[in-house]
Amino acid sequence: MKGKLLVIGFGPGSFAHVTERAREAIQESNMVIGYKTYVDLIEGLLTDQEIISTGMTEEVSRAQEAVKQAERGNKVAVISSGDAGVYGMAGLIYEVLIEKGWKKETGVEVEIIPGISAINSCASLLGAPVMHDACTISLSDHLTPWNLIESRIDAAAKTDFVIALYNPKSGRRTRQIAEAQQILLKYRSPDTPVGLVKSAYRDREQVVVTNLKEMLNHEIGMLTTVIIGNSSTFLYDDLMITPRGYQRKYTLNQTEQPLKLHQRLQKEAEPWALEQVNPAPVLQATNNEELSFREMAELALKMVNGENVEPFQQNVSPQDMETIFELAVSPGVANKKFTARQMIVLAEVVGENGIMEYTQDHHLKLQIPTYNPNEVIERLAEAGFSLAPVGDVLTIKACDFCDGDKKDSIPYAEELESRLGGMELPKELKLGFNGCGMACYGAVKEDIGIVYRKGAFDLFLGGKTVGRNGHPGQIVAEGIAPEQIVSIVENIIQDYKDLGYPNERFYKFFKRVKQVQGFVYQDITPKLEVEAAACGD
Ligand code: SAH
Repeated sequence: MKGKLLVIGFGPGSFAHVTERAREAIQESNMVIGYKTYVDLIEGLLTDQEIISTGMTEEVSRAQEAVKQAERGNKVAVISSGDAGVYGMAGLIYEVLIEKGWKKETGVEVEIIPGISAINSCASLLGAPVMHDACTISLSDHLTPWNLIESRIDAAAKTDFVIALYNPKSGRRTRQIAEAQQILLKYRSPDTPVGLVKSAYRDREQVVVTNLKEMLNHEIGMLTTVIIGNSSTFLYDDLMITPRGYQRKYTLNQTEQPLKLHQRLQKEAEPWALEQVNPAPVLQATNNEELSFREMAELALKMVNGENVEPFQQNVSPQDMETIFELAVSPGVANKKFTARQMIVLAEVVGENGIMEYTQDHHLKLQIPTYNPNEVIERLAEAGFSLAPVGDVLTIKACDFCDGDKKDSIPYAEELESRLGGMELPKELKLGFNGCGMACYGAVKEDIGIVYRKGAFDLFLGGKTVGRNGHPGQIVAEGIAPEQIVSIVENIIQDYKDLGYPNERFYKFFKRVKQVQGFVYQDITPKLEVEAAACGD
């Protein structure tokens, strides 16, 4: 009798989701090999098969045993949950066979029986989160180098794939999911819907709908699949839904469609399609022939590879492109007074189409459409403005030193501003600097606070500046000598820059690392129960 290997994916776990062919294949076999939990799950489908069950990490010996038994003439069912070809046994069975010189024609017969993989079973319980381009990434680094996993998460996050994370966490592997979250947060909003499905279609099924920011506050384990939405995924009635794009062509709440059937596939209805003419080409044919997005992409690829792209010429140089230039301005670190002249320059530079917005930290944030950001910088600097980048950068919030009366510490504020102002950091960081013990500009409430008092500086770290459970910083030192303050603060901020996770606020960083530049964290969170509320709650 010739043996056979039946590699079976039995789906998420319930009998209703086992395919007909998988059932037959189990019946056809006289021996079942699988991880013990899986054998238990399909026990009700077994008749008189011999059972060889093993532990979870023994896949290789399981595959070797299955091959050996098939070669002896047995019909061996090798079972995997979900689909056997998705982090299952199918590949390994082939690898073991190939090692032994197996050939399709002459060797034992192999049949791979497909099953419903976790990405599909879990998606069905969440609503319709996959719908569009999606990928699976296993966070298990037992067989795959972590840096490869990291770069796959990065690429998938950057390109807006819906992502199903398999093997997100186990007893020993707890850090990977947090690292994955940080990478995702580099590209996706903290509010991105995330679904956590544990034991789909099994006894202890659990479905949680959360978001990228909150996901780690819920239970995630070996039996969980984490589904991360893309930038269009939305929540409705606790369902996660990723639109397919129909709304681009259809009006979904009316039966009479503005585009008739024959119009829908016409070029004009799909201005985004690959073969369409690119309305703003960066390259131009010398004969002025129009180029499609696809032709542009092919040319760009050639250019990257150093190939000759004549007869095309570069159409637009970077200086010719209008961009929206964003920056923040203020009259100075200590100075809080605008002059009339400065206001006129601002109005001229920002113009009709720009935006000028007053911020919480004594700055005006400007968004200026311009072909020439350098010119904008020059004009504003000439008018005496202090300029700063916006985003996740360091901002100094100094007081006005009683209109300049208490001026002894101003040089230190200015030195901090010139050394550190605008420094890019894991998250925005406000450094409060007050010139006397009154600290009336609220330095102690900032991420880092400095108060000048009796000729020396007091230092406060880790204020929680936002949230209903906000609190001031912890006083970590009093009486720091003036000649030391700048370098101490600089070192603290450098540590935060080097060791903080992307998007991690300073107070969280201080709490996590417990010590920074010798200053030890103490929990000074108010002991009253205050529920944290997210933006919009
Ligand atoms: N071959 C399986 C995957 C095995 S890897 C498949 O195609 O589904 C193991 C991982 O799969 C688990 O860590 C979990 O992320 C996921 N998984 C498998 N079955 C699941 C279920 N019933 N519910 C939720 N996740 C599941």
